[in-house]
Amino acid sequence: MFDLDKLVRPNVRVLSPYSCARDEYQGKEGIFLDANENPFGYLNRYPDPYQKELKEAISNLKGISAEKIFLGNGSDEIIDLCFRVFCRPGIDKALTFSPSYGMYQVSAAINDIEIIKIPLDSDFMIDYKLTEKYLKDEKIKLIIICSPNNPTGNCPGSSAILKIISDFTGIVIVDEAYIDFSDKGSLISYTRQFPNLIVMQTFSKAFGLAAARVGIAYANPPVISYLNKIKPPYNISTINQKAVLQKLRKLSTYTGQVRKIKKERARLSAELAKISCVKKIYPSDSNFILINVEDANTIYKYLVDNSIIVRNRSSLIDNCIRITVGTRTENNKLLSGLKNYKK
Ligand code: PMP
Repeated sequence: MFDLDKLVRPNVRVLSPYSCARDEYQGKEGIFLDANENPFGYLNRYPDPYQKELKEAISNLKGISAEKIFLGNGSDEIIDLCFRVFCRPGIDKALTFSPSYGMYQVSAAINDIEIIKIPLDSDFMIDYKLTEKYLKDEKIKLIIICSPNNPTGNCPGSSAILKIISDFTGIVIVDEAYIDFSDKGSLISYTRQFPNLIVMQTFSKAFGLAAARVGIAYANPPVISYLNKIKPPYNISTINQKAVLQKLRKLSTYTGQVRKIKKERARLSAELAKISCVKKIYPSDSNFILINVEDANTIYKYLVDNSIIVRNRSSLIDNCIRITVGTRTENNKLLSGLKNYKK
């Protein structure tokens, strides 16, 4: 049985959160002498700690109520907050799949949480059979699944993911940072059915706002309240809230860019297939493509020497390089660089 309060670290459960001036008075009009701000200037006031206007805009876009939305300073902050809500340092564990996004392990290590990594199969899919035995381990409080997965690019299996969410009594985070580039649907609507599900998305990728550092968690209100309880009071700056609001007011930029990136992804994959040092191109549901090459270290260095920077992932997957889909011109430069590569 899922018991949220039992899953939460005891110190967080009983914590009296910091109450900031803007928690106590929320009106917009007035003479504000409550927060020790400078009365002059443009960015002189603290931001809305609960980002109400922005959450309303996201709520309208996604058709999910604002009380099921939490915003973090990038999804990286949300990952860290989840460890801090659910895992006791040195005692509890988390589980993820391998290869996947490196911050899960780093965030676990920062919080002194052991992380179990289950290998994905040769098609980078989740092997439910390998996972099943861990679902009963009461020390495992958190499972993190990246879908579409970084650095492999694929969705690792929605039926296995749903089975894990339904069979596990701890929290499951599904990190959908790249979901806008996929034709497979988001799991957001499953938050209606599963109280232990947190779906994470970000404005850093498809919305083109990596510099603004705004990540989103969708979950049921009891989970959201724990995240709110421990977050730094003003975790999203006014400038960054405005940047996202502005982007949401003109969605055609986002949809147009996603369409362009997906089209370029298909062209890039097809062109890469014609290049002799490229041995394999993995299918992608993301804005990047993983390729297997003859000698990743040498090719990586050769590309860097030609001012083309890709991500050498051969420490995770033998001789693999991850290429972000760029503009048509950038992709052409990469393609001609690879074509000219000689052993
Ligand atoms: N999740 C995944 C899978 C990522 O690849 C990244 C960034 N590369 C993040 C989360 C972090 O995103 P954000 O910019 O929202 O912190």
